[in-house]
Amino acid sequence: MLTPEDLAFDREHLWHPYTSALNPLPSYPVARAAGCELFLQDGRPLIDGMASWWSVIHGYNHPRLNQAVFDQVAQMSHVMFGGITHEPAVRLGQALVRMTPEPLTTVFLADSGSVSVEVALKQALQYWQGRGVKGRYRFAAFRYGYHGDTFGAMSVTDPENGMHGLFAGFLPSNVFLDAPPLGYDMPVELSLITRWREQLAAHRHELAAVIVEPVVQGAGGMRIYNPAYLAHLRSLCDELDLLLIFDEIATGFGRTGRLFAMQHAQVIPDILTVGKALTGGYMTLAATLCTRAVAETVCRSEAGVFMHGPTFMANPLACQVATASLELLSEGRWPEQIQAMEAMMRNLLLPLAEIDSVADTRVLGGIGVVEMRQPMRVAEVQKKLIGRGVWIRPFGKLFYIMPPYVIQPEQLRHLIDSMRAVCTEAAV
Ligand code: PMP
Repeated sequence: MLTPEDLAFDREHLWHPYTSALNPLPSYPVARAAGCELFLQDGRPLIDGMASWWSVIHGYNHPRLNQAVFDQVAQMSHVMFGGITHEPAVRLGQALVRMTPEPLTTVFLADSGSVSVEVALKQALQYWQGRGVKGRYRFAAFRYGYHGDTFGAMSVTDPENGMHGLFAGFLPSNVFLDAPPLGYDMPVELSLITRWREQLAAHRHELAAVIVEPVVQGAGGMRIYNPAYLAHLRSLCDELDLLLIFDEIATGFGRTGRLFAMQHAQVIPDILTVGKALTGGYMTLAATLCTRAVAETVCRSEAGVFMHGPTFMANPLACQVATASLELLSEGRWPEQIQAMEAMMRNLLLPLAEIDSVADTRVLGGIGVVEMRQPMRVAEVQKKLIGRGVWIRPFGKLFYIMPPYVIQPEQLRHLIDSMRAVCTEAAV
């Protein structure tokens, strides 16, 4: 039980994500979580609309995932991966190779989403060294993209609403393409493809790869776009001889209604990153998969090896729980769960667009987004939502949910009703 003194310690000594040490936003003490609910330490349950930032897809405190962790702790919690291998890593590697499109067969097990993006960027750089081509040090990415908080990942994140300004002197300068317009069903603007082509062609001799989030741009704006753009991007990369990286850290493992968002367009990248839901939200783990051709070329570079190897690479506990999470997915209930969520959000969340304070609403799979006209006052909104027994954390103008797949219809309805209440109050 955290005492008021403990909470004061938290405020004074612990950084929370993107918070001020001078004037931190409130942090609510959560004592436990089960299914789709977080329990505050005073016992109040909150229906979780965030799935702990996309990760907890099977719900909290899942008996099968718990068991996977218990069993693995009894064997070994960690062992270095240099010169050693183990069943949890091999089983997870097999599952990832089986679930992802066929050419993606080489797996790097990284410790977080951002690190898996660094790994992808490094692989692209070493790929060109392997081909004996010099000067390919830059990347192209979409505006409004978000790829993580480490430096390489930040450098390919949107230059305006990302963190470029703060770290400009240190960050590599990359090439930004206008993002596809909003709308899964909006027809493809061929003039945009022509502009991409011009920009990519102009920079091709310095580009190592193009990196994008397929179909849904997450933290950079919760933007959903027509998957057909990915097919155009793939052809441009083929034509101009550029590698294509898909970041499916947020979208992977069913969230958009397909196992991977790239499957909305049947487009396959050369390198793929996954994370977040990989362990069902139990532990930090991510993976970078690449084709055999990329892997072999990387190793023809001067180094002769791929130059990355973190201490906690392929942590057995994380791998074991990830394998259990992927097994749960492969039992196949997720498509129905996502369809049910999508149908209810289309019925109840899309109409929030009629409220004056709301600029736009959009839904895809298990993702529901309300874009407000004005930035939200997070502390105030969150207090109201907690008063109604729900956990949703808005940022900027974005008020969005991506609940655990196991959410019950009445819970989802309550989340959306609470969003409606907040939007209506904001309008008056
Ligand atoms: N890429 C995308 C698309 C993400 O949504 C995120 C996390 N929000 C990351 C990369 C970074 O992952 P992590 O927070 O695990 O480092």
